[in-house]
Amino acid sequence: MNYKITIYHMYPDAMNLYGDYGNILTLQKRCVWHGVDCKIVNISVGDKAHFEDCDLLFIGGGQDRGQKNIADDLVMRGHKIKEEIDKGMAALTICGGFQLFGKYFKMANGSTLEGIGVFDAWTEAGNKRLVGNIIVDCRKTSSDWVLKSRFQSDETLHTTLVGFENHSGRTYLGPNGKPLGTVIKGYGNVGDGTFEGAVYKNAFGTYLHGSLLPKNPWFADHLILAALKRRYDTHIDLKPLDDSLELEAHEFAKTRAYTAKTDTIK
Ligand code: GLN
Repeated sequence: MNYKITIYHMYPDAMNLYGDYGNILTLQKRCVWHGVDCKIVNISVGDKAHFEDCDLLFIGGGQDRGQKNIADDLVMRGHKIKEEIDKGMAALTICGGFQLFGKYFKMANGSTLEGIGVFDAWTEAGNKRLVGNIIVDCRKTSSDWVLKSRFQSDETLHTTLVGFENHSGRTYLGPNGKPLGTVIKGYGNVGDGTFEGAVYKNAFGTYLHGSLLPKNPWFADHLILAALKRRYDTHIDLKPLDDSLELEAHEFAKTRAYTAKTDTIK
């Protein structure tokens, strides 16, 4: 069977920082290698969107200005996006996009951007930017979603994420908020090196730029599997890919994170 998925790329013009577009390229390429048809639909402010046709939504990071430019449009679509996420639509939201999938983002100038509340989370700007390489372990906090991959024998290869963070926002989780993982190296959501990101059903929020997916192939495949499950309502087996190059990049990024100095904010 020739499987197909549709990816909605939200606000590609306004929300794309530190290589985030590389996530779209990775999903596209890995779908080709997996023999899955992948259609990318770009959605900018004011564009018509049919989220019932979307299997995987992606939104990248953005400066405060970029977030301000798209926030009202996103809020208008918020109800439908949440409805589809509750029906299994997958989502990857990065940094500024992640913040607007929480309840609100209170910016450094004191103004507040309303979010769409997919995640039980809220963000408040801090006075020091949190910048640096980061490693996150997804096993301990989100094991119920972590793909028990048949692709790699070594468990850490498909439950650790590496990336780069650069944010003023501190994202706090409410009682129903679930982190993506625990910080092994780096600042994380609130700058104290404890937890990172957020998960709600198949929606994932993270501060990891870089871009994230090229160096974390297991997570890219997890999102493709989730998009296929959303579309065909069954788990579809993907043939394993040769990820030797990707895993070399993953290990190199890990080394850089371990050697970098991070003075976590208490
Ligand atoms: N403007 C937001 C912040 O500074 C998000 C930044 C980003 O997307 N890298 O926290």
